[in-house]
Amino acid sequence: MKILCVLYDDPKDGMPSKYALDGIPKLETYPDGMTLPTPKGRDFNPGDLLGCVSGELGLRKFLEDRGHTLVVTSDKDADGCEADKELVDADVVISQPFWPYYLTRKRMESAPNLKMAITAGIGSDHVDLQAAMDHKVDVVEVTYCNSISVSEHIIMMILSLVRDYHNQHSIVKAGGWNIADAVQRSYDVEGMHIGTVAAGRIGLSVLRKMNPFDVHLHYFDRHRLPESVEQELNLTFHESVESMVAVCDVVTINCPLHPETENLFDETLINKMKKGAYLVNTARGKICNKEAIADALKSGQLSGYAGDVWFPQPAPNDHVWRTMPNHGMTPHTSGTTLSAQARYADGTREILECFFDNEPIRNKYLIVKDGELAGMGAHSYSKGSVTEGSEEAAEYKK
Ligand code: NDP
Repeated sequence: MKILCVLYDDPKDGMPSKYALDGIPKLETYPDGMTLPTPKGRDFNPGDLLGCVSGELGLRKFLEDRGHTLVVTSDKDADGCEADKELVDADVVISQPFWPYYLTRKRMESAPNLKMAITAGIGSDHVDLQAAMDHKVDVVEVTYCNSISVSEHIIMMILSLVRDYHNQHSIVKAGGWNIADAVQRSYDVEGMHIGTVAAGRIGLSVLRKMNPFDVHLHYFDRHRLPESVEQELNLTFHESVESMVAVCDVVTINCPLHPETENLFDETLINKMKKGAYLVNTARGKICNKEAIADALKSGQLSGYAGDVWFPQPAPNDHVWRTMPNHGMTPHTSGTTLSAQARYADGTREILECFFDNEPIRNKYLIVKDGELAGMGAHSYSKGSVTEGSEEAAEYKK
């Protein structure tokens, strides 16, 4: 079989010759007891860079030993790109949300052999799920592999926005020492109201991690958490997102992108937020209206916005979020720490082993199976497509 793997570019100066740490901690299970990926083998060192082209997710030996063909490229946007050329006779496509190969209906229809799209990470919105259902292409992701990585990034972003870390750091880098400049937008989070849109793996982890900061915790979700968890964390549940954002100083978005959540944070909802609130979005760029966020930062309706997700990706050079005031954006990195890469590389191999050996893939990894939303997909997504507009990704560096 032919496996097409679309990964982000190598470091500008080539692959690292050494790493900051000698290795990564060994974890036994995820916080809810789910087991980490269990592939039958592994051909990489945990802690090495695997998510870029030369890292190949550590898959080459495994695939070639079994007689399969692996093609790896980062060239994924615009007509005539390498990925499109290789897709036409591919059986499996692997892509990552950090550098998404937007598997639109048109692309899917160019690939008659395509049987499965694997997301080496979490969040399969870069695949037109409706087209996948229509064409019986299965879609799977490595559930939980980087949920905790993202929740750590969110805590960093909440603290850095509220305390105004980015401004203070730039003052030091520029050789300055004006303390009044450095603190005129700096607050403690203690006593603030913090709310998450969705309390799934990431959202709940954020609530747990924020709890020791002596804050008031809120959440909105389609399903309610167990009463014991609500009591343990003293959570306020909201029946609607509007009710929650009206009272929160900090809102973090942790739901998947699907037709129900696309453009959720538009001008109307942002205007219902508490004046001067901070918004952190590591879920997906398209959940927030790009212009409405920039306008709210300019007017002061929002005091800060941070996250690592954009639309499209890579973000065009003139994307307004690069230059808007009081933002703490990073490229899409929160779920691709070296620690997370080891987990999603293992998970991708586990999925491929099951697929080749005709064994069932874990139900929790399934998004689309046999033309229907299945597993996690049936629980957390809705039918339809959210890939429209992705061709703009070709604008980066033009
Ligand atoms: P989970 O599936 O554990 O959680 C998702 C939660 O979102 C579920 O509780 C689900 O509710 C809820 N949800 C779905 N639709 C809605 C809606 N319309 N309104 C409110 N809540 C909703 O996934 P994770 O927590 O692991 O990941 C969440 C998302 O974070 C991913 O889908 C992805 O987009 C993003 N992500 C980003 C990463 C990054 O690197 N920046 C890496 C990993 C994930 P219910 O199930 O109760 O219906």
